[in-house]
This record gives sequence, C-alpha cells and structure tokens, in this order.
Amino acid sequence: MEQDLENEQAQLVRLYADVATVQVGDRMVECTIRGRLFRDDPPAVGDFVQIEQVGEGWAIKGILPRKSVLARRAAGPSHRKQVLIANIDQVIVVFSATLPALTLPTLDRFLVVVEANELLARIVINKMDLASRDAITALLQPYVDAGYPLHFTSAETGEGLDELRAGLAGKESVLVGPSGVGKSSLLNSLYPELNLDLKVGRLSDAYGKGRHTTVGGFLIRLPDGARVADTAGLREVGLWLVPPDELPYCFPEFEPYLGKCQFNNCAHLTEPGCAVRAALDMGEIYPSRYESYTKLRAEATESWPRW
Ligand code: GDP
Ligand code: ZN
Repeated sequence: MEQDLENEQAQLVRLYADVATVQVGDRMVECTIRGRLFRDDPPAVGDFVQIEQVGEGWAIKGILPRKSVLARRAAGPSHRKQVLIANIDQVIVVFSATLPALTLPTLDRFLVVVEANELLARIVINKMDLASRDAITALLQPYVDAGYPLHFTSAETGEGLDELRAGLAGKESVLVGPSGVGKSSLLNSLYPELNLDLKVGRLSDAYGKGRHTTVGGFLIRLPDGARVADTAGLREVGLWLVPPDELPYCFPEFEPYLGKCQFNNCAHLTEPGCAVRAALDMGEIYPSRYESYTKLRAEATESWPRW
C-alpha cells in the first residue's frame, strides 16, 4: 500500500524551507528534501516529483522534467536562476483600478518578467467598483493591442469573476501583483468553497501563514481543474532583472520590427536605422510602452555586468 505511493503522480503543493507537502491522489504526504541531492536546483512548488520511503517518513528523490518555470535571476556574479514555481501555464498579473492607483510602468515590469520566462500573461484590473470603466479601458488599450487577455473585476461586487474563473479553469496559474490590489480577495470570491473543502482546508492554513514566510509557497487545486499557486518570493516579481539583450523580446508589440534594424545588435535606443523607433514615430508602438522599455533597459544595463 505505502509502496504504491512511489508510483503515483505526485505534485509538490506546499513548501516550507526543506519540508515539502506532496499531493499523491487525495493524500498529502510530508516529504523531506535532502539538500545534497538538489544542490543547484531544488524542488519547487508545482514540481512533479518522485518520492521514496525513508525509515518512517518520505523523501523526494527526483524531479520530473518541467514544462515551464517562473524563475528569478538574481543580480550578482552567478545570475543563477531560482525556480519559484514549476509547470505553470499562465501568470495572472493583478492590479487595481485605484487604491492603490494603477501604475502602468509597474504593470510593464511585471509583464516583462512573465515574457522573460516565456509564459502567458493575463491582466486583471480589480476594484472596478471604485472606478470609471471608460477611463480604465482607455488606459489599457496598449495591452489589448499587444494581445494580452484583459479582465475587469471586482471582488466586492462579483463583476467579471465568471469570465476570470473560465480563464483559470483547467490551467495552472499564479497570481502576481502589488500588495493591496485584491489578490486574496479575488481568490476568495472566485472560489468560496476554498475554506470548506477539507483538503483545501489544510492549504488555506498555508494560505494564511505561508504568505508571510520568505521561503514558503503553495498550490491550491480547485474542483474545476484549476490550480492556483502562490509564493512569497513572487511578490516583488516586478523588480526581477531581465538581461538587457532579452528585453526587446519581452514587449510583444516590438516583435514585428525586431531583426529589421540597420544594426543587428541595435538596442533600439539612439541607433540610426532603428525599426522599433520608426514604428514608434509612426504611432505603431505606444510611447508609454517604449518609455518603459528604455527605462528598464537602462536599469538592466546598469545592474547586468557583461558576461
Ligand atoms: P492583496 O494584498 O493583493 O492580496 O489584496 P487583498 O485581497 O488583501 O485586498 C486589499 C484590500 O482591498 C482589502 O481591504 C480588500 O477588502 C479590498 N478589496 C479587494 N478587492 C476589492 C474590490 O474589488 N473592490 C473594493 N472596493 N475593495 C476590494
Ligand atoms: Zn533598433
């Protein structure tokens, strides 16, 4: 019986320092992580893992290949990638229409990190009960034109929640965004059953405490096949570094022009014959988005020593 657990699909759903909770079918199994097995690349929330019985307990002995990761690349000499969530399908970038104010340069930062990880982004503007829809719609036009799915929601009134739930169903998602925009409120309003379900009950415990630990994280499995992940490390995702040369590819609307500049190492800043700047002059790229690009490029160049 116990041996059977070793052959079933097992997913890491909660992590505290070197202890992981692994979900195997309906069972939650506490597993230790032996550091020496995973020195450079430890298991992350969302990983499918192999587990083995060690004495009375269980341990993770291997990680199955990941289909995707959301990883942080630290500043410093190594620039090693630290995987915070594995196997996610999409990143839900949550902002509020107001309180705190909608700051587009910060939204651009979050989107760049999602793109750098080659993940899909979905934009959610919450607290729409407090704002004028017309004004917010106009502000978000550059993102709709760039192809990002956009949701207007209110965790308070329920506006837009059915549509967002449909966008989450059957997928593994992670919510990111500044604090106070309503990420927790949205999850509660989207899935009121979260606190009732026994299995999720354990996780909602993690939801209360895990939020504030620096190393923890967890994954909630929902009845409609949705999985929603959260780790404290994702909070400041907007401040992660992206290598300067990768940055142009993190703005989807630049894509048609890349490779068409006079110089093939064009940074799209002041070089002559730049196709990106030509598109900007023609009104095909929004000035606010280009401005974010130049700002992030300057930051990245400064903090990214040459390899
Ligand atoms: P988080 O830090 O992103 O998880 O944000 P919270 O979920 O903790 O919400 C922060 C505050 O905003 C709380 O006081 C919520 O009650 C409030 N809030 C969240 N969503 C909405 C909304 O859609 N409308 C309004 N008016 N308030 C909201
Ligand atoms: Zn260029």
